[in-house]
Amino acid sequence: MGNSCRKHCQAIRRLLPCGNNGTGKTEVIVIPTEQHKPTYVALYDYQARTPDELSIFAGDRMQILNSNQQNWLKARLLSPRENLEGYVPINYVAPVTDIASQPYFFRNFKRTDAERQLILPGNGVGSYLIRESESQVGNYSLSVYDGTHVKHYRIHKNDNDGYFITTRTVFPSLQELVTYYSQNADGLCCRLANPCLRNEAPLPPDLCYETADHWEIDRNSLKFLKRLGHGQFGEVWEGLWSDTISVAIKTLKTGTMKPQDFLREAQFMKNLKHPKLIQLYAVCTLEEPVYIITELMRHGSLLSYLQNDKGETIGLPQQVDIAAQVSSGMEYLERQNFIHRDLAARNVLVGENSVYKVADFGLARVFEDDAIYLARNDTKLPLKWTAPEAICDNKFSVKSDVWSFGILLYEIATYGKMPYQGMSGREAHEKVMMGYRLPQPPNCHASFYKIMLDCWKEQPENRPTFDTLQWRLEDFFEVEVSSYYDPKEFIQ
Ligand code: AMP
Repeated sequence: MGNSCRKHCQAIRRLLPCGNNGTGKTEVIVIPTEQHKPTYVALYDYQARTPDELSIFAGDRMQILNSNQQNWLKARLLSPRENLEGYVPINYVAPVTDIASQPYFFRNFKRTDAERQLILPGNGVGSYLIRESESQVGNYSLSVYDGTHVKHYRIHKNDNDGYFITTRTVFPSLQELVTYYSQNADGLCCRLANPCLRNEAPLPPDLCYETADHWEIDRNSLKFLKRLGHGQFGEVWEGLWSDTISVAIKTLKTGTMKPQDFLREAQFMKNLKHPKLIQLYAVCTLEEPVYIITELMRHGSLLSYLQNDKGETIGLPQQVDIAAQVSSGMEYLERQNFIHRDLAARNVLVGENSVYKVADFGLARVFEDDAIYLARNDTKLPLKWTAPEAICDNKFSVKSDVWSFGILLYEIATYGKMPYQGMSGREAHEKVMMGYRLPQPPNCHASFYKIMLDCWKEQPENRPTFDTLQWRLEDFFEVEVSSYYDPKEFIQ
């Protein structure tokens, strides 16, 4: 874009949520004037949910007219249904000139995500994807499935904007690099065949464009279909919003908290967006019981999922993967300085394709302390999950969440056994205060247990951060070392 062009453009600084770029960093979005509207392409089909939205089909091209809302863009279709206008979710479209519009590019994908995705049925030898490198900002990585393993290659960029895996062959664009390695493997584990299959479309960032800002919704727009469970504070239902969109509806027992306290907290929770956190969509707080509307997770709580599996399909790699996904959501909360306060397997939910997300973050704060510590039946008390300094001095911090994460690892390793079995919460707390720690569960990998012990260090500052926990879990099997290509030939 030339200087004169720049003059006509208006720069808007805004915070992109993690669901978009995974970083939560401030980014400058340039919204051009009439002559310079950028062309975008639809990555997935989206069915308009309200009259101010626009239905799009994957491949549709459109111009972006404005973006006055963080997660929604106002678009005008170019073809084939020219001039139809409306809002589209930002994660369903990408600029045509952007690599994100390519079928092989996977936005916000980590190495572990690539490994999970490429081995799904439907992918075969040579299935591949390109993602942003985690370790080298600005560079890309190519992940390829050779039929048995997923291999990763770094794609470097030189000063002349050339892309290369090995300095022997440099390409002016990523597309040309892909085309070249589709024709000959030339040192890769195999030729590139088909772009990795995508999951179904991602969740839109909100129930609809309107609820992005107005998320107190009419309770009559909800239909209750099936009771999924009930907790100490109310029931959880599978339901439909506006007769079409599947949601989970949490009904809070009358009198468990003050609606205005909840609303204050929910305001903050609504803005927390991350692929490993349950998305809060809307609330009904004008009358009791208060409803919380969130995304629906088909396989329910991690606790019952582990207990039902008992090790039949979940082995060490899956256990590490669950822990890594939870730590990724918690790392995001850590960056936002947000304390969960009730992290446990019962508050992690399981979705399709082995996706695990953290739920109920921040809710514990809304309830009276008494409700948390005294009202619950002693065997269910979160005392067993709560760090000693939080129990004794009410010192909740990210590091007390790290303690709870250690207990969650224990639950994962034991397929959902009650920690400190045979002890009451109080007894467990007293023993912990005297230095006792849960023993290494049978069949638990020593390194996995070592992570638990680190989470249970007496001094909170000696416990690892979620950032550290995340990379320790993601690098658990040292895949990095073994699967990046031969260092003599390929640049690391
Ligand atoms: P809770 O009251 O949050 O402990 O939830 C009780 C049970 O309802 C959980 O153990 C899950 O089985 C289920 N549940 C809660 N939230 C959801 C959700 N968003 N999607 C699907 N099931 C849920």
